[in-house]
Amino acid sequence: MNIQEFIKRGDQVIMPTYSRFPIVFDYGDGCILTDIEGKEYIDCVGGIAVNCLGYNHTGLNHVIEEQIHKMLHVSNLYWNVPMITAAEKLVKLSGLDKAFFCNSGAEANEAAMKLARIYAKLYKSEDATEIIAMQDSFHGRTYAAITATGQPKYQKNLSPLMPDITHVKFNDFEALGKAVEKHNCAAILLEPIQGEGGIYPAEKEYLKKVRKLCDDQNIVLIFDEVQCGIGRTGKFFAYQHYGIKPDVVSFAKGIAGGVPMGGILACDRVAQVFTPGTHASTFGANPLATSAANYILDTVGNPEFLQEVSEKSQYFVQKLSKLKEVNPHIKDIRGKGLMIGVEIDENISDVINQCIQSGLLVCGAGHSTIRFVPPLIISKEEIDQTVQLFAKSL
Ligand SMILES: *Cc1c(COP(=O)(O)O)cnc(C)c1O
Repeated sequence: MNIQEFIKRGDQVIMPTYSRFPIVFDYGDGCILTDIEGKEYIDCVGGIAVNCLGYNHTGLNHVIEEQIHKMLHVSNLYWNVPMITAAEKLVKLSGLDKAFFCNSGAEANEAAMKLARIYAKLYKSEDATEIIAMQDSFHGRTYAAITATGQPKYQKNLSPLMPDITHVKFNDFEALGKAVEKHNCAAILLEPIQGEGGIYPAEKEYLKKVRKLCDDQNIVLIFDEVQCGIGRTGKFFAYQHYGIKPDVVSFAKGIAGGVPMGGILACDRVAQVFTPGTHASTFGANPLATSAANYILDTVGNPEFLQEVSEKSQYFVQKLSKLKEVNPHIKDIRGKGLMIGVEIDENISDVINQCIQSGLLVCGAGHSTIRFVPPLIISKEEIDQTVQLFAKSL
């Protein structure tokens, strides 16, 4: 059966919520993905920042294999060992106090918003319900998460959305201050580096002011690190570049290297309002996912590994900057670590399709930015090849 035949069958039975590229993948190894006809691609999408150790990673495979022979799942009515060790590691890496586990980024943000609203009701006032989020943000597809997402194109025909979520311009402290004066706020929610919106990092001064505003007004500060967390930027969490801490951080994507998992971490002051019955997840803290997470936390959380991510980032950005000098279509290079956005003045789908033709997977972010979020294990040779193929495609 060839690729076209599989796609035809897929079209008949899969809801077309994605405009998928006409590729059917079979397997991967390291940073290379192979389709069912044997064509190879260098993968700078990495499952959109999920496959942080690439494909077919020996150590991760081993841990997962061991766990499937023990138990795939056990209820949250009981404890399991990997959930406890994963939470301990996350607490240590984040500087926060308590974890809650679920299965995806959207669910993690749901948990964060529920936690913040409960906290505000109990420790601020009955009507402190407003959540202020950012324009051009992305927080996921469930109802609260899509309401918090500051991009109207994702909210079409879904009204009424969840009440009491407002959007302000990102990196604009004055706009945020005005919104906080106008509403009785439970929480401020933002991505330290906006991902889907186009790879826009928060400014340092801005985040410091936001932190202080939240302290002064008893507002829960939530960082969505679903994309920029888990070593992606060269620190385990992106906020660690800024010298501040949120009250709650959400994570998912890379946390279990490709096994579906999400979660939040919070400081004790806020976390204590989640008591038995306030929130739950059947699959959350599932031992298959949390044992994979343990391996990722040990590997990616290692300072030497994070240092390598920063070095590879420097190398990558240097190569892209050289390309920018000779290619007038490149307008800007943004990001941190191995979360890199290259803004171009050409149609991004044309460039993405050209890259695919030549054996390189990249994806878009925002209207005019090509996003590189490769496995964190990408080699310098693979970075060289990536930049070459990208240059040719431009
Ligand atoms: C991908 C993403 C989400 C949604 O995660 P899902 O696992 O698809 O629900 C939320 N926030 C950010 C910043 C993301 O990049």
